[in-house]
Amino acid sequence: MKKMEFWFVVGSQFLYGPEVLDTVAARAAEMAETLSKVLPYPLVYKVTAKTNQEIANVVKEANYDGSCAGIITWCHTFSPSKMWINGFANLQKPYCHFATQYNREIPNEEIDMDFMNLNQAAHGDREHGFIAARLRMSRKVIAGYWQDGDVQKRIGDWMKAAVGVAVSKELKVMRFGDNMREVAVTEGDKVEVQAKLGWQVNTWPVGDLVAVMDAVTEEEIDKLMETYRASYDFATGDMETVRYQAREEIAMKKMMDAEGCMAFSNTFQDLHGMKQLPGLASQHLMAQGYGYGGEGDWKVSAMTAIMKAMGEGGNGASAFMEDYTYHLVKGQEYSLGAHMLEVCPSVAAGRPRIEVHPLGIGGREDPARLVFEGKEGDAIVVSLVDMGGRLRLICQDIHCVKPILPMPNLPVARVMWQAEPSLTTGVECWITAGGAHHTVLSYDVTAEQMKDWANMMDIEFVHITKDTTVESLENDLFLADLAWKLK
Ligand code: MN
Repeated sequence: MKKMEFWFVVGSQFLYGPEVLDTVAARAAEMAETLSKVLPYPLVYKVTAKTNQEIANVVKEANYDGSCAGIITWCHTFSPSKMWINGFANLQKPYCHFATQYNREIPNEEIDMDFMNLNQAAHGDREHGFIAARLRMSRKVIAGYWQDGDVQKRIGDWMKAAVGVAVSKELKVMRFGDNMREVAVTEGDKVEVQAKLGWQVNTWPVGDLVAVMDAVTEEEIDKLMETYRASYDFATGDMETVRYQAREEIAMKKMMDAEGCMAFSNTFQDLHGMKQLPGLASQHLMAQGYGYGGEGDWKVSAMTAIMKAMGEGGNGASAFMEDYTYHLVKGQEYSLGAHMLEVCPSVAAGRPRIEVHPLGIGGREDPARLVFEGKEGDAIVVSLVDMGGRLRLICQDIHCVKPILPMPNLPVARVMWQAEPSLTTGVECWITAGGAHHTVLSYDVTAEQMKDWANMMDIEFVHITKDTTVESLENDLFLADLAWKLK
């Protein structure tokens, strides 16, 4: 991915003379430089804006600069907001209003009207906030002292969500085969998602993939086998089967890279000419940051790619997941998540094992796959569904545990979790909202980041938390349905 940065735009006015403006410019540059050392992306100071033209110009530049992932504004003073209207009306990048001031303390002796002119964000921020509210702009408001770690963390989290927007707008998804026959929730309006989210979702014949697979050399496979050995334990002696997965991985990666695709889907119903359903192949591609969706689920594939890009180091602990089965013992209620093969090893608690087992569906040879337990920790599951006329993003808070059973005969990777507000009420909420069986499970991306992402994308966001009840959710969904019809 190309190097992304954020622009720091300071709001001011001419009222207090050039000396104040010079001081503010120097302080803004210092703040951007200091913050860049701790934030996940550089914050570049651009301008202390005093006129409509300066603001319109910096917005135009931001819109057209491919490396600018968003703007962060700070009003050290009152920056009369009618001069922001023309710029804001054209803004196409994510926007964060940072309500802060250069000084932390009100100094007892030093405070006079000169000090006040430099440090009047307290009312400047209110004028700035009004115009964004009046224009119904999508924005993030973060208030706090710029040197505080918790404030910097929130800005950093927002930056990652904004990078998720940039990734979304250029995302290409490669479909091998259609979605699984008769399945509803994996369908969706590909024209709508391209208009709304930027995704280019297109199909490539499985026959073309097989031709590329046939052209993969033994040397290429040898090299990838070394990578597998460095990352995973071999719990099989069937090297030919593992090598076949390497062949599939290399071919899929070649085709995706040639088209600039960062996500893909396939289906066990269309493996014409392939000996194995890709298992290890898909898992190791996900470990490298590619999104994946099984049974032709291109929506979850795209969301996996985006959430990986939003995570730590550009490939956080985010995985394609499916709720598989429940443990419904009173007081010990868990969901067991897995897939027939394809769970990303970025969520593994230990070193994954490569194993070969039969696969009941698809009618192909026994595929190699990675088997492991998911790690413990707070996480979210996320599902994007097409409601017809709009997209709904559903997010649920969960707590992953070490699986309470060893399950020695389960031949796939598994993650076990408790859901909020409880397993059964959580299931009732999820079903009421129409959430899919496929999700992206992430330990790394937060619900607040997904809410920010949904706001920036202008799609519906539903959050199932410890406080959610079925009644409150039904009411929220009913009101949201009305609101989105009026929008
Ligand atoms: Mn599935």
